This record gives sequence, C-alpha cells and structure tokens, in this order.
Amino acid sequence: MTETRLRFPPSPTGYLHIGGARTALYNWLYARKTGGKLILRIEDTDAERSTQESIQGILDGLNWLGIDWDEGPYFQTEFESEHEERAQKLLDEGKAYKCFCTKEELDAKREAAQKNKSTYGYDGKCRHLSPQEVADKEAAGLPFVVRFKVPEEEGEIGYEDRVLGQIKAQYSEIEDFVIVRSSGKPLYLLCNVVDDIRDRISHIIRGQDHMTNTIRQVLLYQAFGAPVPVFAHMPLTLDLKKAKISKRKHGEIVAVHFYQEHGFIPWALSNFLVLLGWSSGDDKEFYTREELIEAFTLERINKSNSTFNYQPGNAKFFTDPKAIAFNEHYLRTMPIEELAVLVKPFLEEQAIWDDSYEGDRKEWFLSTLDLIRDRFHVLTDFADLGRAYFADDFPVEKKPLKKNVLKHEGLKEWLPMLADRYEALDDFNTENAEQTARDLATELDVKPGVIINGMRTVVTGQLAGPSMFDILTTIGREKVVSRLRNISSLYPD
Ligand code: GLU
Repeated sequence: MTETRLRFPPSPTGYLHIGGARTALYNWLYARKTGGKLILRIEDTDAERSTQESIQGILDGLNWLGIDWDEGPYFQTEFESEHEERAQKLLDEGKAYKCFCTKEELDAKREAAQKNKSTYGYDGKCRHLSPQEVADKEAAGLPFVVRFKVPEEEGEIGYEDRVLGQIKAQYSEIEDFVIVRSSGKPLYLLCNVVDDIRDRISHIIRGQDHMTNTIRQVLLYQAFGAPVPVFAHMPLTLDLKKAKISKRKHGEIVAVHFYQEHGFIPWALSNFLVLLGWSSGDDKEFYTREELIEAFTLERINKSNSTFNYQPGNAKFFTDPKAIAFNEHYLRTMPIEELAVLVKPFLEEQAIWDDSYEGDRKEWFLSTLDLIRDRFHVLTDFADLGRAYFADDFPVEKKPLKKNVLKHEGLKEWLPMLADRYEALDDFNTENAEQTARDLATELDVKPGVIINGMRTVVTGQLAGPSMFDILTTIGREKVVSRLRNISSLYPD
C-alpha cells in the first residue's frame, strides 16, 4: 500500500480557530492511524491578509493541542513560480485559454441571464479564438484572464466522498472557470491543487465549505494527469441559531488560544472537538490519544452539521458546557503529576508558584492538587478559587463572608480561642483538629457548623470545598492558626 499523506493547510489570516483545529485533528488522527504523514502547509498567498503573528499563533495552537506534523511548515508563497508554470503548462497543452472578455461584457451577460431567469455560466466566447486573434489582442495590450477548458463531454464528473458518498455534476453545468487573474496571479483553487500534487497528498479532509471547489479541482487533477486524492468533507459547526461559528459573531471563544488562556487541558479540548462531528457509534466520549487514533475512521464523520452549544450574549457558561464537562473530566481524573505540570504556569502567572513544589514540597503540592481538584472546572481555578492553598493574601468571597462570618459576631472570639487550642495540640491531624473544634462548640454551646463554616471562610475564602479538616492539615497548622487569629480584620470597624 502506498503511504497516506495528509495535509493541514491553514490560511494565516487570523488565529487558529476551533473549526480549523478540528480539521487539523481529523487529518492528524487519520495520518497517525494509517502510519502516514501529516504535512503542514501555510497558505499565505493572500499577502494583504496573511501575517507573521497569525502564522506563529497557528504553530503555537497546534503545538499546544499536541498535533505534531511530519513535514513542513511549507509556505505556499515559496511555490508561486511553480503555480505559474503549471498554469502555463495547461495553456501550452490547450487545456486552458486566455479570455479577453471585459467585466462590463460579462456583467451584461449575467444580468441578461438573470432577467431570463436562466442560470449564468461563462459562454466560452474566447475558447474558440484563433491563435492569431489571441496574438493580436495581446499585442494590443488587452488584459486577459486564463480560463480552464472544461472538457466538452457528455455526462457527469464527480468523486466518491468518504463522508458524503457520490458527488456529481454534469460537465455541461460547469463553466470554464478562471485559473489565473488578469494580474497574472494564479487563483487559489489552482495553487491548492498544484501544492497537493507536489506534496503527493493522498487524502484531503476539509470542511464542507470547500466543496464548491472540489469538482473543479478534480478536473484540474485530471488535466495534470495526477491521481485524484480521496476527499472527505466534514460537517460545519453551527451555533444554536444555526449560524456558522465565527469571530465576528462569537468573539474569542472560537480561538484555540482562548481555551489555553482559560485553563483548558489540551487533550480535553481536542477530545471535545473531535466529537463535534465524529462518533464511534457507541456512547463512548472520553478517549486517550491512542484509543482515538485506533477508533477514528473517515466513514464515521457525521454528514450533518454539528452544534456548538453556545449562544452569544446569553450564555451561562463561557463556552459550550460540554466542552467544560470534558475539561472537568480530565482535570479530575488525570494522573496528578501530569496535572501539576499543567497547573504550574497558572500559578506562575499569579506569582504564587514556588520552586519547592517541584522539590522538597512536591508531595504536599501533589496531594493538595488532588484534594482541591474535585470541584474545579478549569486550570485557572487552582490559582483563583484555590489561591488560599498557595498564598496568604487571598480574597474572601462575599457570600460566605456575610453568611458564615459577619452574621456571627461571636466568631471574633471563638476562632482565636480555637487557634490557641490548635497551637497547643501535640499532633495536628484531621481527627484531633475536628475533635477540638467540636469540643469548643459544645463548651460554647454553639452549633459546630457555625465554627466549621466560619473557619472554612477564614481559612480558604470559599463557601464550599473539600472536607474542612483535610483542608486544615493541608494548609498546615501555622497558617491556620494565624488565619483564625486574624478573623477580626474581616469585620468592618
Ligand atoms: N486554506 C484553506 C483554509 O484555511 C484550506 C483549503 C483546503 O483544505 O483545501 O480554509
């Protein structure tokens, strides 16, 4: 069997979009599954819109997601002369021709067709110009485009789409399409094919929005005598109102870097994205990389569009809740050492990272992450909601402050009393920390909950969290005692 060769050819005109990332993932999965190659090719021929920043953003996004490629990045602009040579070759072989029709002429024909309610297609006027006529027009300096000569055949042309089945069109429905602009610049449609032929691409997995090009591209492959690759067109991703997800409408939530900044685990996002438009046919949702590579097939890519459960403006969650559920799953179940690596940059960003977390306090750090992760959704939660574990200056949430502290004036005395008793304990462990708190509540004749909830607020700033006494021993006696003693600072003067 010949090697499968796939490509991801983003246009560097913005950041890596989650739709683009999904395309990259499908190509990557298929390359890995078949033991083939993934080629990264930056389609940067649109000089006005392509930026270096965007190229860097795409590379960073792919790296972050863990999508590795085997060749490239190649840049389409490096092959401009090849695109021109290929167009010239089609002209030389009589498979394309120069068209001198003016815009005004074509517009008039289009309008006339619209009036007659017939569909417009270029009528092939210049197809039959004699070589002399062409030479004269060129000598007169008339501008021209190059059009592909669609074979004058009866019947249909098409391809077998691995997702959608047979896609066909009548030859007679396809107009002689433009492949080189009057500026001499080859059209994207042609460049894309020339590059895919040079890169020996065997499979093209891309969005259904590119299908408008595919039949014409099949004609180009045939004209170049090159094998036509296997096509698999993937469904689009729409929002709840059936609009294509886009930066203009949805803002940053369509950007991969947004998920990175908001504390997503790369594989959680990848797993979620792959399932937006592909399923194995059973209910399985969470896959390891190896499992997904094994399970992935082109045939099980959905035919119909997938829904990204997010509506701009009235979203309760900052993105599709299912994406968050995927992140929670991985955050709460992944090996703790791997989680620690992912949490580190978020603590660093908040200047609450300590190198000892990788040294003599590593055990403590790992067990702390394990203790607090059960309620967390995203990695930033460790630095925000979990700040009290890593720093002494942490915010106290309004709700528990009001409900569990300010409502009980007595705590101002009781918690410092508890602090004294904690300080005096021979051994500060979960059992005797709890017993001491309960004994104090009994002596004072207050509900244990008042002491415990007050303590939780003062020690962590949060309304809820893991078992209080596990928290105490994790944060450590010294800090607990000082926070309990400091309760008065939470009351207004
Ligand atoms: N550069 C195109 C895009 O970013 C890809 C076209 C293709 O896959 O053929 O949408």
